[in-house]
This record gives sequence, C-alpha cells and structure tokens, in this order.
Amino acid sequence: MARYTESVCRLCRREGTKLFLKGTRCYTKKCAFERRPSPPGQHGVRRRKMGDFGIQLREKQKVRRVYGVLERQFHNYFVEAENSEGITGENLLRRLETRMDNVVYRLGFASSRAQARQLVAHGHFAVNGVPTNIPSYKLNPGDRVEVRESHRAREAFKTIRETLRSHQAPEWLSLDPANLSGAIASLPRRDQMPLDLSEQLVVEYYSR
Ligand code: SF4
Repeated sequence: MARYTESVCRLCRREGTKLFLKGTRCYTKKCAFERRPSPPGQHGVRRRKMGDFGIQLREKQKVRRVYGVLERQFHNYFVEAENSEGITGENLLRRLETRMDNVVYRLGFASSRAQARQLVAHGHFAVNGVPTNIPSYKLNPGDRVEVRESHRAREAFKTIRETLRSHQAPEWLSLDPANLSGAIASLPRRDQMPLDLSEQLVVEYYSR
C-alpha cells in the first residue's frame, strides 16, 4: 500500500494551517507550525497570489491530507459522493468520516489518524466480531468496532480504558470504554463533523 513517508509537519506548513496530524504533539510548543509557519522549501517565505484554481486545489489537498488519503482513492471517494443522493461535498466528508481508521481515531483509541491506521493495519480491531485490518473499510450504522479480545493485554492498550473514560466521542458514535468498543449510531450530519474545511471548494475543484 502506497503512503506518504515525508515529515507530516511539512504538510501543515504547506497548507498554511495546523492539520493536527501528530496527535498530542500538535497541542504542544514542539509543533513545527507554531515554530515556523512559512511554507517549506527554499522559496517558502515568498508571498504568492492565488487564483480560484489555486484556492480550490489547496483546499482539496488539505482535506485529503487531514484524512491521510492518497489522490486516487480520494478521487474515487469523490466519484462515489457525486453518484450518491444528497449534497456531494457532505457525502464526501461522510465517506471519509466512516473509514475505519477515522472511526478508531474519533472513538479515542488513537491520538491521530495515522496512529489509528497503524493499529487497524496491525490487526488489533474487529468489526461485528470479525477481525478487520483494512484502514479504509467502510462502516455503516449499527456496525460495532472493538479491540480484539486476544489483543487487549498488549502494550498499545494497557492504559486505554483510562484514556477512553475521559474521551468525548462525537454524537454519531457510541463509545463503550469498559468493553473497549464503539458503534456507529448514525451517519454523521455536517454539523456533527467538526471540520474547519470547505468541502464546496473541493467540489468546485473536481467540477472544473
Ligand atoms: Fe501539524 Fe501537528 Fe506537526 Fe504541528 S505538530 S505542524 S499541527 S502535524
């Protein structure tokens, strides 16, 4: 599986905003964007005037990078969103939110989507009792995600119950810290996806 292997902090500096890709580090003074907010590279500090296309492109890249999805897969999600009933931009965000790695992150099992993706890929989780190690796996209302029984004593989950007890999961998910599990209560509405992103600009980018 192809994936981005450079420093993810460069992505925040490139997009000119904090994308919160590194979990708890993003909330500390060690955040690279706090220390050096200019775009990366030799000519990063130069001011560039952006046209409509540039603005749409940057927003598309921002959404893609927040969820850690590569271009081809992101475009596939867009096509799926466009062919579904409802508002395309919202459909796109909903599809991204219902990826298994994002749900694991939103439930509080990981401090970033990248960490969640790794936990899922390493086979620590099951969906409706079936071991599932595909980070992009699409979850539907009623689906239940849990740490597999045989993996609960592992280092990665030793202190997780304590962490989950103070975690506030979004309304569309129901978290059960005692059983190290969570379920999709409903599909998220736009106001239940707290994202500082403009999905409309992404739609405009692909509609050129
Ligand atoms: Fe972005 Fe987090 Fe790195 Fe800061 S620490 S630049 S928010 S990924």
